[in-house]
Amino acid sequence: MQRLRAARRLIAHPSSSAPFLSSSISGFTKQLYAQVCLDSRPQATAHACFKSVAESYAEVSRGNCGVQFRCLGTVAATRNPLFSTVNDDDVKYFIDIVGDKNVIQDEDRLQTANIDWMRKFEGSSKLMLLPRSSIEVSQILTYCNSRSLAVVPQGGNTGLVGGSVPVFDEVIVNLSLMNNIISFDKVSGILVCEAGCILENLISYLDNHGFIMPLDLGAKGSCQIGGNVSTNAGGLRLVRYGSLHGNVLGLEAVLANGSVVDMLGTLRKDNTGYDLKHMFIGSEGSLGIVTKVSILTPPKLSSVNIAFLACEDYFSCQKLLLEAKSKLGEILSAFEFLDINAMDVVLHHLDGLRNPIPTSGHKFFILIETTGSNELYDKERLEAFLLSSMEQGLVSDGVLAQDINQASSFWRIREVSKLN
Ligand SMILES: Cc1cc2nc3c(=O)[nH]c(=O)nc-3n(C[C@H](O)[C@H](O)[C@H](O)COP(=O)(O)OP(=O)(O)OC[C@H]3O[C@@H](n4cnc5c(N)ncnc54)[C@H](O)[C@@H]3O)c2cc1C
Repeated sequence: MQRLRAARRLIAHPSSSAPFLSSSISGFTKQLYAQVCLDSRPQATAHACFKSVAESYAEVSRGNCGVQFRCLGTVAATRNPLFSTVNDDDVKYFIDIVGDKNVIQDEDRLQTANIDWMRKFEGSSKLMLLPRSSIEVSQILTYCNSRSLAVVPQGGNTGLVGGSVPVFDEVIVNLSLMNNIISFDKVSGILVCEAGCILENLISYLDNHGFIMPLDLGAKGSCQIGGNVSTNAGGLRLVRYGSLHGNVLGLEAVLANGSVVDMLGTLRKDNTGYDLKHMFIGSEGSLGIVTKVSILTPPKLSSVNIAFLACEDYFSCQKLLLEAKSKLGEILSAFEFLDINAMDVVLHHLDGLRNPIPTSGHKFFILIETTGSNELYDKERLEAFLLSSMEQGLVSDGVLAQDINQASSFWRIREVSKLN
């Protein structure tokens, strides 16, 4: 498994024991999942679910199950013959479910959906479906399961590893029409929304209510919260708010056989038994399609400071992180690293960006952000930290953003450096 990247999970197939994708999955979890399978799948399939991880993996390798793999950079050699091909009757059925205009067969639109953001991977799907509700997703998957049609869930198609595009001719199920905010509790800061909400729209919505999303990333204008959850996206605020495993309070998902699993809790301090939602966070569509998300959002704080620093060696960057954690403490909201190679690529390919520390010879750069509620105190604390870091020789040069435009240009370097 180490060398294989599971680029596409074809999640529906009657003879499949596929969901076990990781050889590190524990026996306990395996049995738990088997129980879920028992509840929802026909006897023969339930039996298959009890196979060992090793057996399942062997089956995956032989191509006898509902998962297609793509080796890094190349496409799997053959299409799994157990999957059917979409025919006219299938299309008619889908039109009945989602309506004519949400069954996409137009070549131009399909071309965009078949190619990933990096333009490294290309599928050949002939059909994209745009469901508007969990019920429609369930109907689609129930049907695909019965017909052995392969499916690829797609959000904003901004993933960088080819997971959101078909390997072959899978049906693309794109969640972009499921973009409603269901509720927001201003006391607890808990947002419940559909999985197709674009991250930037959620950020703006929360901003109007004095809150922020606990994750932010360069693809925010296109990526969807369902995609973020399914990739367990880290983003720019991880150092402060942690990963989505901590911030996502609940999920609703539709399994490959069409059953809707309601795990959409909104209770932060929930210690009631198994927490199945974690299996879906980072599962990249392999276990089902995430349709709703409940997420804890922190209040927006008024004072933000950003510094862009240069370090001579990697060891200094590491030490600087430790210093930042201990000296800036609770106001440290971002600590992002890039080396000179990443910086060169950013500057070479993007107009309008310049190195904030143009003096030559620096090999490593760090972006530090503090966020707090006392402007004067936060600034003094950051300045004291910078001074002491320079005295210790950890930082060789640096600049503090003087206004929002400068701050945005610092962030822009970090956001696009992700694509290097
Ligand atoms: C400019 C840029 C900056 C980025 N910065 C970061 C960063 O800082 N940190 C980081 O971690 N990542 C980053 N990414 C990658 C990041 O993982 C994705 O952008 C984002 O999380 C994917 O969301 P999406 O809606 O585009 O999902 P897609 O790309 O559409 O899908 C990604 C995967 O999730 C699955 N999927 C999508 N939606 C669902 C769903 N509803 N249910 C089940 N499965 C689903 C797909 O099948 C696929 O396997 C960046 C990408 C870009 C282009």
